[in-house]
Parts: sequence; C-alpha cells; structure tokens
Amino acid sequence: MKLQSLREEVYEANMELTRRGLVLYTFGNVSGIDRNEGIIVIKPSGIPYSELNPNNMVLVDLDQCVVEGDFKPSSDTRTHLRMYKEWSTIGGIAHCHSRYATVWAQARRSIPCLGTTHADYANGDIPCSAAMTEAQVMRDYEDETGVQIIRALGGRSPQEIQMVLAAGHGPFAWGIDADKAVHHAVVLEELAHMATLTEMVSGGAGIKLEPFVLHKHYARKHGPGAYYGQ
Ligand SMILES: [Zn+2]
Repeated sequence: MKLQSLREEVYEANMELTRRGLVLYTFGNVSGIDRNEGIIVIKPSGIPYSELNPNNMVLVDLDQCVVEGDFKPSSDTRTHLRMYKEWSTIGGIAHCHSRYATVWAQARRSIPCLGTTHADYANGDIPCSAAMTEAQVMRDYEDETGVQIIRALGGRSPQEIQMVLAAGHGPFAWGIDADKAVHHAVVLEELAHMATLTEMVSGGAGIKLEPFVLHKHYARKHGPGAYYGQ
C-alpha cells in the first residue's frame, strides 16, 4: 500500500481527535498531505472510529480522484483540498464539531483574545468566517466552505492563524502535519471553552488581553527570536 507512514500518521491523528473527546459518533475528520506525491490521506466517510485502521484511510489526488481505498473519502474532502491548494505550507487539517468551538461558530462570533493561553497560539482573534450565500451552497458546498475559511484569514498567513470557525458549522484547524492540526483543534476547543466562561464570569465586560501582552506571548513562541521551550 502507498504512503504507509502517512496512513499511520493520519489514522493516529483521527484517533487522537476522538480520544480528546472532540468527536461524537463520526463527526470529524483529519487529513494529511504528501506534497511530493500530490496525494492526500483522509478518513473514510461515515466509518465508526472503532473500525478505522491505517489501511482503510482513503488516498485521493488533488482532483479528488481516489488513488487507493475501498471507501469513499470524508464528505468534507473538497474543503480540505481547497485549503491545501491555497496554502502550500500546511501539511494537515482537522475538522470536528467540538462543543464550545461550534457554539462560537453558531453564534457567528470570532473568539477574541482574552488571555495568554490564546496568545500563545494565535496572533489575534480566531476568526469566524462569513456565512455562505445560497449561490455558494448550490455551486459546491464543500469547496465554498474552504473558500470562506481562506477569506476569514483576511490576508493573515496560515502560520499566524491556524484555526478558523466556519460560520454556522464548526472549527477547522491545521498545521505542518496531521498531528499538529489535531493539537490545534484541541487547543481551539479549550480556548473557546475558556472564552465562554470568561464572558460569563466577567458579565460580558469584554476585557481583551492588552495588545502588547498578546504580541509578547505570540512572539516569544513563534516570532523570529522565539525563546519558549527547549
Ligand atoms: Zn462538519
């Protein structure tokens, strides 16, 4: 079978998403890409997590033709493809309907940066995409979901912001590989949870983290002179 190590990596990332409690039934999918081969490995559509294994992951090319696999790829595959084509630097994408991130997506609200946990991961608000028009939904719903996610970054790089809320739908996160994408989906759920509680505790006072603290935290982990970690 082709791309065995990527199959295993994507399988593991899918299992991690469910182990972290971000998935109910089959709501969720993780993919990874081999840029040299031009092939994406993605979870099969509608198969219970208990039945997944590296060998039933589906391989598709950039035109969404199945290269290897007995099952249909995830129904969100075209969203993943659109993002991979637009952002040549990303290697993995995770999507789920985790509760708190989805609540913000349903409220059509970007998650403001309220504290340093958020600032360690995102250089500003985590954007919620604009709602899709009826024409977009009719044209190609999954592809246009990707279009809206890309637009939501508003010109920021996919390194600066690695998570987006698709309006009325749920979170999409990405990273250099499938494992990092899941890590970001897990972090996003925690940030959304904390933001929800912060709004409640503060009575909706809307106190955002000071921009100079936000930038300090983001830069020490991701900036040119990053010094966080070993
Ligand atoms: Zn979904």
